[in-house]
Amino acid sequence: MATTPDTAKPPTKPLSLPLYVRGTVVKGLGRGNKDLGIPTANLDDGAIASLPSDFDNGIYYGWASVDRTDVHKMVMSVGYNPHYGNRKKSMEAHLIHEFPEDFYGSELSIVVVDFLRDEKSFPSLEALIAAIHADINGASINLDRNDKYLKIKQSPFFQRETTKEEEGTTDAVPAST
Ligand code: ADP
Ligand code: MG
Repeated sequence: MATTPDTAKPPTKPLSLPLYVRGTVVKGLGRGNKDLGIPTANLDDGAIASLPSDFDNGIYYGWASVDRTDVHKMVMSVGYNPHYGNRKKSMEAHLIHEFPEDFYGSELSIVVVDFLRDEKSFPSLEALIAAIHADINGASINLDRNDKYLKIKQSPFFQRETTKEEEGTTDAVPAST
């Protein structure tokens, strides 16, 4: 009778989804843009360290906003980019949007809604690029057709905290006695 070996890989889908993460966009190794034509905004070490322990390396998708402006679809990789054999863990998001310029140093707010696949090495750069394009298409379709995901896009998490002055309101004047 077949038994499950102790070493069986646990399910990769983290229980901690959706996951809300905020961080600063830092310089990565510059490969996203240069090699692949797919820029990825890399998050700072503090954001990486804040990931829950069940958050396995892999490819995820969800929503992201730069400096709490518009919310865009995004595909994110967490891990060591085995295709390149990186030593340092990274967390990097490709936002499905054309930006007029880079946004290093900006605040990136991310909600990860689902897991797509494990990270892996590819036989060629072309195969890696094709896989990323498939990830982007799959993520985009899933985000559009799941009401639960569409609702997350409206989350207050993506909204800038407005000051009382901006809202045009002031604290209620206490009633005089
Ligand atoms: P690095 O290795 O420094 O992360 P990349 O080649 O991956 O360099 O490019 C990432 C940078 O490109 C981001 O930090 C951001 O400033 C910029 N960028 C422009 N458009 C996008 C986009 N659609 N998604 C993510 N980053 C983008
Ligand atoms: Mg990058």
